Amino acid sequence: MVVAWLAVGRAAIHSAAETAMTDPGRPDSEGGAPSSDATPDPAITRRALLGGAGATVLSALGATTSLTAASWNQAEPASATVHVRVYPGPMPVTARLGAGRPDENGLFSVHRDALEAVEGALEGALTYAGERGVDLDAVVEPGGPVAASFFSRLETAVRERRNPSAQETVLDAFRDELREREVLSGTTCHLLLWWNPFNYDLGYGGTRSPNGHVTAVDGEGSQTVANVGATEFWDSRAVTRNIAIHETLHTFLSRDVVSEVVGSGCDHDLGSAIRREEGDETVLEISPMATAYAGPDEFGGGTRFHGTGCYDHDSFSRHDGTDDVDRFVYTTDLSEATLEALTRYLERHLG
Ligand SMILES: [Zn+2]
Repeated sequence: MVVAWLAVGRAAIHSAAETAMTDPGRPDSEGGAPSSDATPDPAITRRALLGGAGATVLSALGATTSLTAASWNQAEPASATVHVRVYPGPMPVTARLGAGRPDENGLFSVHRDALEAVEGALEGALTYAGERGVDLDAVVEPGGPVAASFFSRLETAVRERRNPSAQETVLDAFRDELREREVLSGTTCHLLLWWNPFNYDLGYGGTRSPNGHVTAVDGEGSQTVANVGATEFWDSRAVTRNIAIHETLHTFLSRDVVSEVVGSGCDHDLGSAIRREEGDETVLEISPMATAYAGPDEFGGGTRFHGTGCYDHDSFSRHDGTDDVDRFVYTTDLSEATLEALTRYLERHLG
């Protein structure tokens, strides 16, 4: 499989990386107030009970450890809360080796690290928003493993001669499963953590069209996938964390706010690549939205594969250049531009 993937050539390698994200073709229809839904959400109920003042982020792992499979199927209410649900995909036997045991939510350590990275990024965003007088709240929680029916949908795609590994096929199957669980409502971001290191079509991940951001389609939220198998196999846990954040944040950004902040309307330009000296080395520190886009567009430039969505290093909120850089390092801290754009989106669309 490695040979097959590497043999497909430069064009395919380009498409191997993150695709279908904030490209100009992505439908970006605005509006659509959050739908009303009276069914209480267990996590939000828990949040209300805890009564955190201001921007409070609940750890899904901490707050919802008592969730059962049945409660995963409860619908969420419309809310100004930033709401992310994280769904682990199946782990192949080879990936399970050394991965420990899954927890009661079906999360292996790689999934938990990704979830906690998203949670930490949102904590930073809500703190920033709070300092701007924007009072928001967030919930990040496990959504439960994807069901066996998910695979029957992929098999159906095979029978229908569609590409079962295509990013849109995986995301469509994911959306169908969420609809079947009756959790597809409101403005939740549903993040699928998939494991397929050799799926160049899926690449590092992407968002489902037309649900490019959580209010793009009324009452459906967003569906996005991070291929943690690819980031783990080809890169590092640090890249896994950043891609999980990256794919999630795409769905809390829209072209209007990004244009206001960074001028280009491309989410990736919100990111930063900052040169630092570490001992004898010069490193380039990459923030989440710049991850997979900050290096030269070549194999091994920064991340092993380069993203295919929009980007322009000259338009990045900050890019110090790659000349004489010894190493790329990754920070889960969001750039100032990302924080500002998120705050504007959350205030405008979810506030
Ligand atoms: Zn992206």
